[in-house]
Amino acid sequence: MNYQNTPEFAHQMDDQDPLKNFRNKFLVPKHKGKDVIYFCGNSLGLQPVTSRDYAGQKFDNWKDLAIEGFFVGNDPWLGYHKKLTQTLADIVGAKSEEVSVMNSLTVNLHLLLVSFYKPTNKRFKIIMEGGAFPSDQYALASQARFHGYDPKEAIIEIFPREGEEILRTEDILETIEKNKDELALVLFGGINYYTGQFFDIEAITKGAHAAGAYAGFDLAHAAGNVVLKLHDWDVDFACWCSYKYMNSGPGGISGIFVNEKYFNDDSLHRFAGWWGHREDKRFLMPHDFEADKGAAGWQVSTSPVMLLALHKAALDIFEEAGGIQPLRKKSEALTGYLEFIIGEVNAANGDDLFKIITPGDKQARGCQLSIVCKQNAKATFNYLTDHGVIGDWREPNVIRISPVPLYNSFSQVYAFGQILAGAVAVD
Ligand SMILES: *Cc1c(COP(=O)(O)O)cnc(C)c1O
Repeated sequence: MNYQNTPEFAHQMDDQDPLKNFRNKFLVPKHKGKDVIYFCGNSLGLQPVTSRDYAGQKFDNWKDLAIEGFFVGNDPWLGYHKKLTQTLADIVGAKSEEVSVMNSLTVNLHLLLVSFYKPTNKRFKIIMEGGAFPSDQYALASQARFHGYDPKEAIIEIFPREGEEILRTEDILETIEKNKDELALVLFGGINYYTGQFFDIEAITKGAHAAGAYAGFDLAHAAGNVVLKLHDWDVDFACWCSYKYMNSGPGGISGIFVNEKYFNDDSLHRFAGWWGHREDKRFLMPHDFEADKGAAGWQVSTSPVMLLALHKAALDIFEEAGGIQPLRKKSEALTGYLEFIIGEVNAANGDDLFKIITPGDKQARGCQLSIVCKQNAKATFNYLTDHGVIGDWREPNVIRISPVPLYNSFSQVYAFGQILAGAVAVD
């Protein structure tokens, strides 16, 4: 695309954007009386205007119906989670029964590891990306210890080559192949939170399977951001949160994917609870656990209906937008524009202030760009914040900027460039 660093170009792109009105469906914080330029959907998505109503209905049901709310009303709480699964399945590329909505992300990661990390003395190793989100590192290390292994021996972290910022798929595959006799599991992020690199999930899964290991993915930064095909890629399991790109509120309810090939696999352990029991027999309160069909059988506790309502409010917006495909189409153009604009500011300043460490290949990234500031990094970030741009800061010198197709515009990306140029002028 032939991008231009002018307000006219940005306005024209906005005019042509079929999703331009979706920004009105979100509530935006103010800075000095004006809407901020919110580029932080990678950490916490904005609140949909409808969230309060959706949750309010559940408050009303609780007030008016109390316990009956589980069974009567227009949207009984029992089974309400199933009204979310098809939309989610479309977002992550799964069959509806392969998806369940439950708990929060790290909790779900642990529950899935109970099923899919089954170390033996011969096969006990886990391969993961170096520099993964800390919660994933802690979860995996604690799982290794729980099974009696020293994480230093059990966990292999893959880092970029010397002088490089992102991982090469060939290096990931080679590490898998080299460890194939001892490998139990490959657990990767879908998109790395720090660099914004979107991993080749299909290739990694294939490599893991060829080595006789399971392949699982933490999609916190990928779900609702990029097009995923978990089922077709033959991924074994995955989990994600709903509060980043899925705008469902801080600590919102999360989701899991379990490949249908495991629905009847009795060799998988699971930590059971009554909400995962066959739904038609759950209230008969039988003595022995019989798993519900599909990913729903991994549920443990009573569904938190308020959180489900917040999630549904946000997912209904995805539906209205036509799902993840049109969002991704805009996202690629928007992030491409951000990359161009940063390049413009950099070129005007000797090409040596900023380095984008996120891959330039759009297949290998989502909406986020991670920018290394080589000089006055923190001052630059503070300047952006003081001028109404909300991005986020990662030590020691990285600013993450994530234009989200549902609520960000080309004009905002243009304005960002102007403010960034202003920051440079002050520095
Ligand atoms: C955001 C994020 C988390 C956070 O986990 P919670 O259990 O929701 O607090 C975990 N892993 C990754 C990769 C993340 O990006």
